[in-house]
Amino acid sequence: MILLVATRSHHKLVEIRSLLSGVPDLQVLDLNEAGVPFDPEEEHLEPHDTFEENALSKARHFHARSGLPTVADDSGLEVQALHGAPGVRSKRFAPEVDAEGHELDVANNRHLMRRLAGRGAQGRAARFVCVAALVDGDQPPVMCRGEAPGVILEAERGAGGFGYDPLFFDPELGKTFAELTPEEKNERSHRGRAFRMLATKLAGRT
Ligand code: IMP
Repeated sequence: MILLVATRSHHKLVEIRSLLSGVPDLQVLDLNEAGVPFDPEEEHLEPHDTFEENALSKARHFHARSGLPTVADDSGLEVQALHGAPGVRSKRFAPEVDAEGHELDVANNRHLMRRLAGRGAQGRAARFVCVAALVDGDQPPVMCRGEAPGVILEAERGAGGFGYDPLFFDPELGKTFAELTPEEKNERSHRGRAFRMLATKLAGRT
């Protein structure tokens, strides 16, 4: 089976490829390999208020453009003291920042630290959420949700991962996600949990 993984995030792609690598007879293609060029319309595929709707909207869009079985994910950080924000808006949390990549991550993390300044441990409880949606022709979509509990630190720790990883502390491991090896992060993360579930379902189809 050929599967399109519909993300333009290099970090996500590396994690997802590794998580699906154990599925027998599965060939994973990214958007470039599937010959799906960037289209500005892609920037508007996540307008919804739930991870499920956004993941499905992305998967449907890229399935229509590629004709391939397609998986897309939507993910983000929910912080208790912020009533679940930044949530589905995690990528564009810092206001008035037009950056991408590392620069965007730095701005988002600074903004998060500012918003939580003066908060005690309880308000810093948080979780990462990831929903993976698989769309394949007329078959009903497959939805897999993974969550990872944690606490937002007052200062960044670690140089691995991406996004909010340096602020996201895993109390069971005593480390931030940015201090984990890629294997450890996949073991603990929201994306790991969602895509392992998906891998089991895919293994039944290949
Ligand atoms: P999206 O799923 O492409 O909409 O991205 C959501 C945003 O959530 C990313 O840009 C990151 O800021 C954040 N995010 C999602 N997953 C992770 C993760 O594994 N580590 C750190 N930040 C993440």
